[in-house]
Amino acid sequence: MSLSRSVGALFAASALCALAATAGAAPTASLVPPPADQALGRALLKELIEIDTQHDKGSTVAANAVAARLRAAGFADADIAVLAPADHPTKGNVVVRLRGQGKAKPILYICHLDVVNARREDWTTDPFKLVEKDGWFYGRGTIDMKSQDAATLESVIRLKREGFKPKGDIIVAFTADEEAGGDANGVNWLVKTHRDLVDAALVINPDGGEAGVKHGKKLYLGVQTSEKIYVTYGLEITDKGGHSSRPTPANPIFHLSAALARLGAYRFPVHLTDTSKLYFAGRAKLESGQVAADMLSMASGQPDPAAVERLSANTETNIDFRTTCTATEISGGHAESALPQRAKATIQCRVIPGEPLDGIKAQLIQVLADPAIKVTDVYPGDASPESPPAPKLLKTIEAVKNSMWPEPVLLPIMSAGATDSAFTRLGGMPSYGVDASWDDLDDGRAHGQDERIGVQVFDEEVEFTYRLMKALASGQ
Ligand SMILES: [Zn+2]
Repeated sequence: MSLSRSVGALFAASALCALAATAGAAPTASLVPPPADQALGRALLKELIEIDTQHDKGSTVAANAVAARLRAAGFADADIAVLAPADHPTKGNVVVRLRGQGKAKPILYICHLDVVNARREDWTTDPFKLVEKDGWFYGRGTIDMKSQDAATLESVIRLKREGFKPKGDIIVAFTADEEAGGDANGVNWLVKTHRDLVDAALVINPDGGEAGVKHGKKLYLGVQTSEKIYVTYGLEITDKGGHSSRPTPANPIFHLSAALARLGAYRFPVHLTDTSKLYFAGRAKLESGQVAADMLSMASGQPDPAAVERLSANTETNIDFRTTCTATEISGGHAESALPQRAKATIQCRVIPGEPLDGIKAQLIQVLADPAIKVTDVYPGDASPESPPAPKLLKTIEAVKNSMWPEPVLLPIMSAGATDSAFTRLGGMPSYGVDASWDDLDDGRAHGQDERIGVQVFDEEVEFTYRLMKALASGQ
């Protein structure tokens, strides 16, 4: 997934004007790769976009195409593994290793090859053709995440050609099945069954990155260090029912709706992690007035209750500092003239990493405050931890960003949605989402129709990916 969160919804007009005054430098030629690498990046993007990797098609064809490119670039067969679970032969993955000096543990890049389904009739172009139009590349996966796949593949090929020797190995895993249900999720499968192939001290997941643009101005480069853990509960209440002419207080629909109203009014406690404190400190630089002051208050870790109140009123900031649980489905009753015998609801929670999941369930039961309602686990959640926002790593990323774009701030981010990094974090490997596919916060098209990336943005993403890969592999 790509994580456009409309983080810019808050930006005050005055702050934007101030930013606009410093903006405007046209992208310079030096930010795109050398011509041969620029051409290779685009060729890889075209090849990957034009291999249909929707859920039912799978990713094995794409994995084989990537492997062929790697072989042509001089990688030894022993350093390329194409593999799929025996019961899911179409859900292929390819893992490549650029050998290092053995002076550091490997860095692993994870890049999913599959895309969200796209229907030709919903699009103005063929989603499985790379179409260049008015300075944009259109195609399914141009934002999520075949541009990043192409950029990562191009970078590892470029480093190989240049004879670069990383301190430790660079491993890149191009994987299956991130988007749709994940019955053969490649990252999960590789971590659990081929740990030796992907074991690393550091994981970079370009899919988790977020590079925010508003009104044409680059605002921030996000580094995703963590993501909220999603947990699903079922609520159910039953009664013997009866004739609707004789209502009773035991009516399950009334019980359930009263309990849901209590949950709707409830706010989980404020919980600021290391990441969210840094996030608010960075975000404050992009804001002004009261909002900036409130964010600095959050960044202190001891926020003023009035600041909490104001930031809670905004959906986009509320989710950054507390667990949320919301009702997503409801059903009940069986006949127009009968007292209901049953009422059910589904509750989805997004939990701040580090909060014990059984504690969430206990709070939920307490808030519902109705012993007649049975609470069951529908999806128990994987308690993936936060990866520490390590200062040295953030400095390296910031230096690479500054070499291309000094103005936008670096923003550590906990995302509210889920990525494959949950599996590597669960496997004990600190994981960071970062990429530079600069995307308009007001026109996010990932998973949507007419998905596109700026041509210049893509070329620069290729260059950024190369620079970052080289810096990380030089400095560990
Ligand atoms: Zn994605």
